[in-house]
Amino acid sequence: MDFRYLGNSGLQISEITYGNWLTHGSQVENDVATACVHAALDAGITTFDTADVYANGRAEEVLGAALAGQRRESLEIFTKVYWPTGPEPMGKNDTGLSRKHIMESIDASLRRLGTDYVDLYQAHRYDLFTPLEETMGAFADIVRAGKALYIGVSEWSPEQIRAGHALARQLGISLISSQPQYSMLWRVIEPEVVPTCRDLGISQIVWSPMAQGVLSGKYRPGQPPPAGSRATDEKGGAAMIKHFLSDDTLTKVAGLHPIAEELGLSMAQLAIAWVLQNDNVAAALVGASRPEQVAENVKAAGVAIPADAMTRIDEVLGDAVNADGKQVARSTPAKRLL
Ligand code: NDP
Repeated sequence: MDFRYLGNSGLQISEITYGNWLTHGSQVENDVATACVHAALDAGITTFDTADVYANGRAEEVLGAALAGQRRESLEIFTKVYWPTGPEPMGKNDTGLSRKHIMESIDASLRRLGTDYVDLYQAHRYDLFTPLEETMGAFADIVRAGKALYIGVSEWSPEQIRAGHALARQLGISLISSQPQYSMLWRVIEPEVVPTCRDLGISQIVWSPMAQGVLSGKYRPGQPPPAGSRATDEKGGAAMIKHFLSDDTLTKVAGLHPIAEELGLSMAQLAIAWVLQNDNVAAALVGASRPEQVAENVKAAGVAIPADAMTRIDEVLGDAVNADGKQVARSTPAKRLL
C-alpha cells in the first residue's frame, strides 16, 4: 500500500481507502462486511470512511465492530455529518450543520464506531440554512475537545471551500480535505475545485472512483446486470447507479478493456489507478461487496498509467465523460430536509 499526505497536514492515509456506503448495514450481511474490512486490513488499507447517515447509523456500527481489537493508532477513521439521521420520527434538528446537530451527531457517531475520536470529521454537504460561522465554530470545539483531529467537507463548491477554509484558519483548526465524486466518467472537479484546493493545501478524497462498479466493466450494454451487483440492490443501490447504466456509456466503457489488458490491469484497477494519477487526490474511496473485490482493487496502489494510455482513455470515453464544473455540488439540497 502507498500512503499520501492529507492536504498540507502531517496525516498520512492509505491511497486506497475503504468506504462502506450502501453495503454495510444494508446490501451485505454483517459477516461479509467484516470479511471485507479484514481483507482491507490484510491488504494494508488503514483508512476507513463512513457516515452517520449510511444505513441510518448501522454502517458506523458494523464498521466499528469489524475494527474492534485493532490498534487505534494504526487506523484512520473518517465519518460525516449533515443528512437526516436518527430514529423515526426525527426532530427538526436531526439534520444539517447547526451547532446542536453537529454536537449531538459527533457523540452518536463515536458511540456507534466504538472509538474516542475520529481522525477526520466531514461536513457531508454544505448547509444553506446555517451560518457558516456557526458550523465552523462547532467543528472547532469538537477538535479542541479531541473528538475529531481534522475537518473535511464533501461536495462543496470552490467558493464554499474557500470560505470554510478561511474560517477554519481563523479558528486555528485544519480543514484539509474535500470529498467529491471523481472517476474517469465524472470529472467535474477538474476545472475549479482541484485548482482551488491545490491553492489552499486541501486534498481530494474521491468517492465512486469505479462509478459504483460500472468501470469494472461488469455491466454490459443490452444485458441485465449481473446477479448480486449494486444495480440489482433494491435497498438503495439500484437507484443510485442507474444514471451510469445507459447502453451508450456501457459501450464506451467496454472500449477500455484493451487498454487495461495492455497495462496488465483489471478494469477495476485501471479505474482506481486513473483517479490516483491526479496528484491532488490523496485517496480513492473504494467500496466492495465481497472480500475478493478488495484484494483485486488494492493492486491499483502505486500504479503509474503512461501518458499515451491516459490520452486513449479520453478518446475511448469521448462524450460519456462529464467535466462540467457547474455540476459541482449539484446534490446540495436547496430546501431544509426536516
Ligand atoms: P466504487 O465506485 O468503488 O463502487 C464500489 C462498488 O463497485 C462495490 O460496492 C461493488 O458493488 C463494485 N465493485 C467493487 N470492486 C469491484 C471489482 N473489483 N469488480 C467488480 N465490481 C466491483 O465506490 P462507491 O460508490 O461504493 O463509493 C465508495 C465510497 O465513497 C463509499 O463507501 C463512501 O465512503 C464514499 N461516498 C461518499 C459520498 C459522499 O457524498 N461524500 C457518496 C458516495 C460514496 P457490487 O459488487 O454490489 O456491484
